[in-house]
Amino acid sequence: MSNCIFCRIIAGEIPAVKIYEDDLVLAFLDISPINFGHTLVIPKEHHESSSTIPEATAGRMFRVGSRIGIALKRKFDYDAFNLHLADGTAAGQVVMHAHLHVVPRGVEDGFRWNWRQLKYGEGEMQEFAEKLSAKLAADLAGESGK
Ligand code: 5GP
Ligand code: ZN
Repeated sequence: MSNCIFCRIIAGEIPAVKIYEDDLVLAFLDISPINFGHTLVIPKEHHESSSTIPEATAGRMFRVGSRIGIALKRKFDYDAFNLHLADGTAAGQVVMHAHLHVVPRGVEDGFRWNWRQLKYGEGEMQEFAEKLSAKLAADLAGESGK
């Protein structure tokens, strides 16, 4: 897509500091990192949502992302890493070309996810699970027929 900033990086029209590239994915440094070394792993094909990325490419993204996380730990003074993917604007996706964030983490890096912990009411968890698993099964069955 010509108006997509990440497609333009893949095409070499916009510069990026590359970490890794193969036939399916490209990894490059995030321009505004949470910690230095924060890397983005993207499919070379344009996909807005993670849900449409072919399985081989999605698997490669996860594999490359986690190996970059390990390399960040081994080479720099990091203790851990987060893999993060925002799918949709309400989830915080700003660039509408799916991307996996690899965020290197230190015990005292001063960054915290604002992670709340709600509680289900009586029976709500089971009800939620039944509806969700039925919808997932129907969707997956529909897709396998395509
Ligand atoms: P999102 O919020 O969509 O999950 O994350 C988009 C990420 O892309 C942000 O962390 C932002 O810093 C990064 N980003 C946006 N534009 C560019 C760019 O032109 N080059 C690079 N290297 N990173 C970018
Ligand atoms: Zn794109």
